[in-house]
Amino acid sequence: MLKPSPIKTFKISQFIEAFAYSRQAIELVWSTSRKLTIVLMIATLCAGLLPALIAILGQYIVDSVVSAHELRLTEDAEKAQTTAIYWVLAEACVIVVLAASQRVISVCQSLLRAQLGEKVNVLILEKAQTLSLSQFEDSEFYDKLTRARREASVRPLALINKLFGLLQNSISLISYGIILWHFSFVALIILFISSIPVFISEAKFSGDAFRLFRWRSPETRQKIYLETLLAREDSAKEVKLFQLGNTLLKRYQDIFQKLYEEDKKLTLRRDFWGWALGNLGTLAFYSTYVWIIIATIQGSISLGEMTMYLLVFKQGQSAISASLTAISGMYEDNLYLHTLYEYLNQPVEKHLGTTTIGEIANDGIRFHDVSFQYPGSEIKTIKNLNLHIKPGQKLALVGENGSGKTTLIKLLTYLYKPTHGKITFDGTDLNDWHIPTLHKKMSVIFQDFMKYQFIVGENLGAGNVDKFNDASAWSDAAEKGLSAAFINNLSDGYETQLGRWFKGGQELSGGQWQKIALSRMFIRPDAELLILDEPTSAMDAKAEAEIFSQLTNYTEDRIAIFISHRFSTVRTADHIIVLKDGTIEEQGSHEQLLALNKTYAHLFKLQAKGYQ
Ligand code: ADP
Repeated sequence: MLKPSPIKTFKISQFIEAFAYSRQAIELVWSTSRKLTIVLMIATLCAGLLPALIAILGQYIVDSVVSAHELRLTEDAEKAQTTAIYWVLAEACVIVVLAASQRVISVCQSLLRAQLGEKVNVLILEKAQTLSLSQFEDSEFYDKLTRARREASVRPLALINKLFGLLQNSISLISYGIILWHFSFVALIILFISSIPVFISEAKFSGDAFRLFRWRSPETRQKIYLETLLAREDSAKEVKLFQLGNTLLKRYQDIFQKLYEEDKKLTLRRDFWGWALGNLGTLAFYSTYVWIIIATIQGSISLGEMTMYLLVFKQGQSAISASLTAISGMYEDNLYLHTLYEYLNQPVEKHLGTTTIGEIANDGIRFHDVSFQYPGSEIKTIKNLNLHIKPGQKLALVGENGSGKTTLIKLLTYLYKPTHGKITFDGTDLNDWHIPTLHKKMSVIFQDFMKYQFIVGENLGAGNVDKFNDASAWSDAAEKGLSAAFINNLSDGYETQLGRWFKGGQELSGGQWQKIALSRMFIRPDAELLILDEPTSAMDAKAEAEIFSQLTNYTEDRIAIFISHRFSTVRTADHIIVLKDGTIEEQGSHEQLLALNKTYAHLFKLQAKGYQ
C-alpha cells in the first residue's frame, strides 16, 4: 500500500537550509581534480563576460553601418565602411573565443563527471566496509544505501555544473546590468522582478520531486527486486516452473502505475505553473521592447544602442531564468546530496579492542550467561547461555530450525554482540579483541556461503586474502577439501570461470559448490576455530562423512563446530549440544545423550529408522 503523498507547502527556510551541502560538493570536486576545476573556472569566467562584449560590438556594428550609410556619398565613405567591417571581424573573433570557452567547459565537465562518479562510488563502497551486519540487515538503513548508490554519485557534478553555470550567468548579468543601467534603472529592476515567480515555482516543485523520490524509496526497491526476480538466472527456474512470471510482472506494473500517477500530477503542475509564471517574464520583456523602440524613434538612443539593449535585455532575461532554474536545480541536487552525506555520516560503532593474544592461553571459547535479541525483535533468540568449548573439541550443534544455531555462530564470530553477558576467546572478551586478528583465527562456512562469480582458484583463495592469488595454496586446499578431483576435470582447471554472469562461466552442482566452500576452510591452516554451518546439506552422506573425517584429521588441536541435520555426522562429534528456543536443552557425547533418552535420542532413532 502506498502511503499518502508527503508533498508539503514550500518554505523558504527549508530552501536555504538545503544549500548546506554545496560546500561539500565544491570540496569534493576540488579534491577530485584541482587542475580541471581551475580550468573550468577560467573558461566559465570567459563564457560569462564575452556575451556582453558581443552585445557592445553589435552596437558598434549597427552604428558604424548607419554612419557609413549616411556618409556613402562623401569622401569618408570608404573609411566608414572599413570601420564597420573591422567591428564585424572583431565580433567574429570574440565569437570564436566564446565557442572555445564553451567547449572547454564541456570537456572539463565530461572529465570531471567520470572522475567524480568514481570517487563518490568509492566513498560509498568504502563506507559500506565499515558497516556492521545489523546495519546491512536494517531495511531503513539499506534504503539509505540504495538511494545513495542510485542517485548521489551523479549529483555532486550536477550541482557543480549548475554552480558554475550560475557563476557564468551571474557574470553575464552583472555586465548586462551595467550596460542596461545606461538606458534605464527601472528596466533593470523589471528584468529581475519579472523572473522571481518562475523561480519560486521551480524551487517548490523540485523540493516536491525530492520528497516524492525519498518517500517512495521502499516501492522503488520493491520494483528493483521484482526486476531481479524476473530477469536473473538464479530465480528463472522457480519463476518458470511455478509460472510466477505474470503475477510478478503484474505486481511490477501496479507499482509503476501508482508511482506514475504521482509523477504525472507533479509534472503537470510543475509545467503549468512554469508556463503561467513564465508569461510574466514575456510580458515584461515586450513592455520594455516597446519602451526601447519609442526611445529610439524619439531619438534619445541610437539604432545601434537599440539593437544592443534589445539583445542585452533578451539575453539578460534568459540568463536570469537560467540562473534561477540552476538555483532551484541546485536545491534539488542538494537534497539528494543530503541523502549521500546522511549515509556517509552514519555513525559507525568504533571498535576499541586491541588485544592480539588472549589472557589465558588455550582457554578456548566461553559463553558467560549470554542473551541476544535481534534489533527490532521483541523476543530473545539466545537466552542465558553458558558454554565452554575447549581447544581440540569437536562440537556439534543440533536443534530445530529457528532454535538459534546460526545466531550462536554469528555471536561467536562477532558479527553481532550479545545484548547481555559476554563471550571470551582465550580468556579475553571478544569486545577487547583486535577484530581482524580474531577473524584471522576463525574459518567459517555458512549455509548460504558465497558462490563468487570468479575463477575456481579465487573461489578457494577467498578463504584467505593472503592466498587469494596463490595457485599452490589453491591446489593444496582443494586436495584437503576433496574438491581437487572434479576441479581437475573442469575445462580450465583452477582457471575455470564459475557462475553464469560472465563469458565462459561454468555452473557447478550444489554439492560441488559446497566442496569448493569447504576447501576454503583448508586454505587458512592457522585458523584455531573452524565453523561449519550446514554447508554439507547438498552432499551425499558418504561425501559428508569423508569431509568430516578430513576435518578431524587436519584439526586435531583446533576447535571445530558444526551444524548438521545428519546424525551420522553429528555422532562423530565429541560433544553435542541440543538447542531449543535459544537455550541448551541437552548436552554430552552421543552415547551420553542416547542414554539420557530424551530429545536427541528420539531424533536420532527417528532418523535411524528411516535408514532401516
Ligand atoms: P537456526 O540456525 O537454528 O535455524 P537462527 O539462529 O537462524 O536459527 O534463527 C533463530 C531465530 O532468530 C529465528 O526465529 C529467526 O526468525 C530469528 N532471526 C534470525 N536472523 C534474524 C535477523 N537477522 N533479524 C531478526 N531475527 C532473526
